[in-house]
This record gives sequence, C-alpha cells and structure tokens, in this order.
Amino acid sequence: MAQFSTPYSRRKFLLTTGAVAASSVLLKGCLGNPPEETTTTSSNSTSPATVNSGTGETPEVTKIKLGFIPIVEAAPIIIAKEKGFFTKYGMTEVEVSKQANWASARDNVVIGSANGGIDGGQWQMPMPHMITEGIITNGTKVPMYVLAQLITQGNGIAISGKNAGKGVNLKIADPDYIKAFEKTEGRKFKAAHTFPNANQDFWIRYWFAASGIDPDKDIDLLAIPSAETVQGMKTGTTDAFSTGDPWPYRIIADKIGYMSALTHQMWKFHPEEYLAIRADWVDKNPKATKAVLKGIMEAQQWCDDPANRKELIQICSGRNYFNVPVNILTPPYEGKYSLGDGQPDVNDFKAGPLYWKDDIGSVSYPYKSHDLWFLTETIRWNFHKGAIKDIDTARKLVDKVNREDLWREAAKEAGFAAADIPTATSRGVEKFFDGVTFDPEKPEAYLSSLKIKRV
Ligand code: CA
Repeated sequence: MAQFSTPYSRRKFLLTTGAVAASSVLLKGCLGNPPEETTTTSSNSTSPATVNSGTGETPEVTKIKLGFIPIVEAAPIIIAKEKGFFTKYGMTEVEVSKQANWASARDNVVIGSANGGIDGGQWQMPMPHMITEGIITNGTKVPMYVLAQLITQGNGIAISGKNAGKGVNLKIADPDYIKAFEKTEGRKFKAAHTFPNANQDFWIRYWFAASGIDPDKDIDLLAIPSAETVQGMKTGTTDAFSTGDPWPYRIIADKIGYMSALTHQMWKFHPEEYLAIRADWVDKNPKATKAVLKGIMEAQQWCDDPANRKELIQICSGRNYFNVPVNILTPPYEGKYSLGDGQPDVNDFKAGPLYWKDDIGSVSYPYKSHDLWFLTETIRWNFHKGAIKDIDTARKLVDKVNREDLWREAAKEAGFAAADIPTATSRGVEKFFDGVTFDPEKPEAYLSSLKIKRV
C-alpha cells in the first residue's frame, strides 16, 4: 500500500458529527454579546458576516492569538479577521498579531498566548516540525500541528543590478561568472534570505544548485533582514535575495535589480507557507480549531476571487498589516511581474499568489507529501547537524505534525464542495524546472538524483 493513500491519519480526534444541526442556536447565543476588540490591529470591516447555521459545533473558546508576517502569505489570516469569517464560525475574539520577523514568531509561539506570545499563525516550512522537536528552540519541544497551507507561489529570486546582462536568470547561463567572484571581486557572490533552513533558503539553494552552483561552497549565503539586503543590493555589496511579494515588484520599481526567477517558474504551484497552531491548544480546543480553519478556508476562497482582489489589496496594504502603498501590491495580485534584465514580462493571474485552488487542485489542503519534501530537503542540506537523520524519521515527524484530518473535517462540516477536498494525502510526483522530480513514495530516489547535496 502506498505511503500516502490513506486519507485519514492513524490518529483520530474526538469528533461528533451529529451535533452540527443543533449548533446554530448555540452559536447565536455565543455571539449575542460581541466582546471588546482586543486585537493589536484595527478592524476595518464594516459588519461581520452573518452566522451560518450548520457550520459546525460551538467552539470551546472564542479567542486565539495568531501571528503573521507582513507579506502576501498572511492574507488569508488578515482577511478572515477583517471580513468577519472567523466571527462567522464563532471565533469572535481572534487576535492577529504582526510579528517582527520569523525568529520572533518562533519565540512567541514557544511562550504561548497566556504569557504574551501567540498560539500559532503563519509559518515557513518546516518550522512547525522543528519547533515540535525542539530543534530550533534550544531543545524546548513545543508540539505543533500543521493545519492548512496559506498560499502557493508569490516568491522569487532577486538579483542586484550590478549582475544584469550576465545571464544570471532562471537557468544560470555561466555558473563560472558566479564562482569566479572571489577572484574578480575580491569576495564571494553574496546571497541572502531572511531566515535559515526554511522556504526562502530552500528556494535559493535549489535555484543555485540546479545550475551547478554549490550554495555552501561557491557563494556566501546568509540570513539578513530584508531592508539591509535591499540596501546591500543598491550599493552593490549583496548580489541575490530570496524574497517574497511585494519585494520583487519593489526591486524592479526602485531599479535595485531584477528578478532572475519567480518561484512559480521553478516549481509551479509549489507549497509555500502554512497555518500551524500549538498542539496543546488544538487538543484542548478541537472545535475552535476547526472554526479557525473554516474561517481561513472561506477567506482563501474570497481571496482567490478576482473581483475581491482590489479590496484585498486595500485591506492588506493598511498600516497595521503590510504598510505598503496600494500600487506596490496591485501588480503581483494581478499576476503581473516585470522581471527585468531583458526577460519577458509575466502576465498570468495564476502566476501570482493563489490561496484556495490552483490548476493541480487544493492550495489550502496541507498535503503530507509537501511536508515530506521540506523535510527531505532538510536532509539534503544536512540542516540542524542532521537532526532529521533519514526519510523514516521524516515520515514519522510528518505523521505527528500534519493534521490534514482536521482540515478535511472542517471542510466537510462547512459544506465546501466535495471536489475541493482532496481524497489522498499525497499530491503525487512533483516536477521542478530543471527536470528533477520528487516522488513522495521514493524520496531516497530524489536525493540520489541530486548532484549537489550534503548527504
Ligand atoms: Ca514565503
């Protein structure tokens, strides 16, 4: 039997599906006296959506604190809050809290909301798995559950203007140009991401390695705050930046450089960032967890409607959220990217951020096969001194952290179309721009096929 063919994990939650019909009265009761606004962000929404009967059971609590980073990945969390989708499902006191950076989000989830931190929120991968195992938290194990994917695509590799015209594009024409930097420039080619051993690091490593450049040996690859990186690109001391919308637009608009690749071009409809919450919170509040999920899912559907993108941009560009001008967010949300460096422009709605569905299937559903890719890539680069030692360890960790079963239950309870609910935990074989494939049934074969790796 294939590893991923069973739609439900061995873990089963205490779920009562019969109480759905009776829930509307309770829901209305619990919404009778809306609590005071406790969020750190202002609420621009005019009126919350009406309570939908038949959307599940009354949640155990109405409050949760979710962290977000002000980038396009966070939109479903922000929209669920601002458009009243959390409230609709009984989560009337959701607090969305802007995190200074990924390290702060990590530290805040370890602290927990009771002590001024957060219960969960937006994550790069595989942060929830690493926090669960105490690998990136100085040994403190805080079990977490991955509950939904927030977004696909929306990221890319920016290159400083200094390197324009040198063939540093999707496929690097002359890898020796980069490898020779130490001789020609007196320093290595310098590339940056904002947090080590997670998405942005994986994307830029994959991109370099696909052209025969070893990211650990041939270049300097470092975690640097975005603003500092952009400054370095302007002055010509930083060469590459693995980044997400809306930065790619800014790189071009402010003439800082160009885009060598959109992640959409590297791996179409790839897994990106996720919703994950502390396991103790979820275990204690399974109904509230599903209510949060339903709110996120409905927000994702709302986000993907082209008719809503203008309002989405207006809300997300606000000072409490991304704090960027509307005109910077508009092109990526329309799938319009100027790449620069003589490359053709991209004009395809489906090349930009998508939240609910893409051409393969569900964006929101957290495929276990995608968690496994992130952990396989962690093995590839020998991150964390080999803490994830083999594929078997990785599979067990995926089974522990990924709660696709809760996603599935929430989607069914909310009455979302059956066609939008995947029937398997694997999306199947994934294909990258360089022809490499990842078969989730055979991650070892993927690792063997890669030329540049640490294993
Ligand atoms: Ca990202």
